[in-house]
Amino acid sequence: MLSLATLLSVWLAAQVAGPRTAAQWSTDGWQALRAGNAEAAARAFDEALRLDARDPLSMLGAGVAAHLRGRTDDARQDLAGALRLQPALTAASLLLGEILYRETDLQGAIAVYEQALAYAPANAQLTTKLEAWRREAAVHDSFSQRIASHFTIMFEGPPDQPLAARVAEMLESAYWRIGGAIGAYPRDVVPVVLYSKEQFRDVTQSPGWAGGMFDGRIRVPVGGKIDDSDLERVLAHELTHAIVRGLSPRGVPQWLNEGLAVLFERTGAVRGPLRAPDTPLIPLTRLERSFTGLSTADARLAYAESAQATQRVIDVGGPMAIYNLLTNIGAGLPFDAAFERAVLMPYAEFLKNWTE
Ligand SMILES: [Zn+2]
Repeated sequence: MLSLATLLSVWLAAQVAGPRTAAQWSTDGWQALRAGNAEAAARAFDEALRLDARDPLSMLGAGVAAHLRGRTDDARQDLAGALRLQPALTAASLLLGEILYRETDLQGAIAVYEQALAYAPANAQLTTKLEAWRREAAVHDSFSQRIASHFTIMFEGPPDQPLAARVAEMLESAYWRIGGAIGAYPRDVVPVVLYSKEQFRDVTQSPGWAGGMFDGRIRVPVGGKIDDSDLERVLAHELTHAIVRGLSPRGVPQWLNEGLAVLFERTGAVRGPLRAPDTPLIPLTRLERSFTGLSTADARLAYAESAQATQRVIDVGGPMAIYNLLTNIGAGLPFDAAFERAVLMPYAEFLKNWTE
């Protein structure tokens, strides 16, 4: 049982810490979104907006959370609100357009993307989708009901329809969770190929520790007895790579690419520290290039370390840092310049201090 003294000290600590700020609630919200906890995210963004009703990023977060909870009307309202406050908030336009399109409001979706393009004329996600939607509008096939699916699923071995349905469902929910948290979605339909374990090693020539791969297609071994939560984790990981590639086809350091993929593997509660505190680190500059060639133990450390460094980028640069960083790289900026512009800290300084 708790003693009165303990209760009193807890109460005192709470008083000293003071009330939480809108920015703190907003940070909690984005963290919950990344973890796939839409309910907690919605609550945190509510609190943030109660304290600061004019913060476009909290409103965007509230919109993403509402969408993940299936509250489409709320999501539409929040995203439109975020855009009124900050018309150049492309992440809000991208999701609002997608939602309208899914609701078969093709003209509305086109209008949202056209407005967004005025602020981000070089955004390839906007231009590619807009072209496709304009073509679709020109065909006038208003009777065809679109089934929301952002993936094609193929089997390298004998097809297994129930498995394909499960994979499709996992991918769709990861699509909205990860896309919402990054603020971007894969540019095109993503092909997915499912293999048996042996076929996967043969075809991809991937090292023993690889659970899947993305090379323009998501390739995942599903043979034998496969645990649904493992499968979901691998799919989320590879889908993150697809989204990263959509924003920035080249020039992304491996630690950032893998770090994001590892962070988005997790749904629900965040696990403890990713690596033992006294493990010596691999220099982050070594992890800018491919992990192929690392031993199994080093590979494990490389992924954990990448996730930690990426989390640090988000902590330092805020919820839009990843989107801005990837967009800057995609626009052809050298990584150092892209990093400093998005994170507001020189990369050299980050390399020195990120573990602190
Ligand atoms: Zn990966």
